[in-house]
Amino acid sequence: MEIKSQHKGQKGLREKVLDAGLCTNCGACTNLCPYHTSYQDNPILIDTCDREEGRCYAFCPRTYTDLQALRQNLFNIDEFTPELGPFKGLYMTRAADPQVRRSAQHGGTVTTLLALALQEGLIDAAVVAEEGGTFLPAGVVAKTPSDLVRRARSKFVVSPNVATFNQAAKSGLEKIGVVATPCQALALAKMRLKPLPSKDSNIDKLHLVIGLFCGWALSWRELKSLLQGKMGKNSIVGLDIPPSKHHSMEVHTQNGIIEISLDEVLPSVRKACQYCYDLTAEFSDVSVGSARLPEGWEVARGWNQVIVRTQMGQELIALARSRGLLEFRDLPEGNWEKLQKASVNKKRAAIQNLVQRSGSSKDLLYLDGQDPVLRTLMG
Ligand SMILES: Cc1cc2nc3c(=O)[nH]c(=O)nc-3n(C[C@H](O)[C@H](O)[C@H](O)COP(=O)(O)OP(=O)(O)OC[C@H]3O[C@@H](n4cnc5c(N)ncnc54)[C@H](O)[C@@H]3O)c2cc1C
Ligand code: SF4
Ligand code: SF4
Repeated sequence: MEIKSQHKGQKGLREKVLDAGLCTNCGACTNLCPYHTSYQDNPILIDTCDREEGRCYAFCPRTYTDLQALRQNLFNIDEFTPELGPFKGLYMTRAADPQVRRSAQHGGTVTTLLALALQEGLIDAAVVAEEGGTFLPAGVVAKTPSDLVRRARSKFVVSPNVATFNQAAKSGLEKIGVVATPCQALALAKMRLKPLPSKDSNIDKLHLVIGLFCGWALSWRELKSLLQGKMGKNSIVGLDIPPSKHHSMEVHTQNGIIEISLDEVLPSVRKACQYCYDLTAEFSDVSVGSARLPEGWEVARGWNQVIVRTQMGQELIALARSRGLLEFRDLPEGNWEKLQKASVNKKRAAIQNLVQRSGSSKDLLYLDGQDPVLRTLMG
């Protein structure tokens, strides 16, 4: 339920999201108009806009969101599961191409699916994330499989990929795919619902959303200061978060892996992430995360768990299988239940933090307290 200001333009966005510390830096409010830009891990307002309503406010994943309307309008509601969202199937996959696997974060499923979508003409370009050794990622437009391989691997600071989508959609590209964290997939879903029919929108150019599972992201400044002084002469190749029992973040360097205890890392998590209820990017065509295997993390890190959510996602996975581009293995017993549990735990924690923040169990700030799924979890 929305209370306080009824302003649904830049003023409302500043009051309810930016000043409230709820901004995820998804990028949805950027590159729509001349007044907002992205700078060093945050959107900034270059100038004041006094419109009563705007796309920035309407698309932001941290303004009031009617999740049920999104589920009903964008997905097959009969396939909806409260724990994992729209659900056609859960698979374990990895790229068949060993070069893709070597470049990728885990099994290289994301890079493989995007490359296939490009080759098949399902998309003309994909928005992915790039960072040039500064840990500060930005969205970039990839048009070839080799562009994708160069931008593989996870950047654990949010990359404002939706801002790059907004820009790319104005540039003549007609069919765009986006790699999105759950907050970004939510912003794109809000755009798809076209809440401001009177305003121009390029959202019809969005043809594919590959979501990444996301437990949390790190604040850029805090990550930089965390790593400062720890790495010596080692140059960093990437980061990873192994399963929770390891209780650590891995820093991959040219000389091997350095582990940092999560006790040291968790204070650097972006504060807005504590209000995030979505682990598995529920508003995507396909969602991809790391795997869990009985052989342990050393083997599991080379595979992905993949949730297929839409017809488009299902067709893409089936094509990757029939062309031999993705390898599949059976899902170990219990993986589905573990994923459901992890997802529900994140939802419960977010609800608890939102209630604590608002001071009322009836006020979930950006979420609808009457949402049927959230109500079930609130007990
Ligand atoms: C911030 C963050 C938190 C995550 N938390 C979890 C988690 O808790 N549990 C889990 O199972 N998995 C998590 N993941 C997903 C995981 O790290 C892998 O991205 C996923 O398993 C896909 O692996 P892959 O080998 O298929 O990816 P790749 O083939 O290497 O492709 C990864 C793609 O993601 C893009 N990308 C990288 N970073 C970002 C970013 N910040 N924003 C948008 N796009 C990006 C890359 O440009 C590339 O296109 C997280 C990812 C991120 C970015
Ligand atoms: S749209 Fe995204 S970047 Fe803009 S204020 Fe909202 S959360 Fe932040
Ligand atoms: S935890 Fe949620 S808010 Fe934070 S980056 Fe991931 S999807 Fe976005």
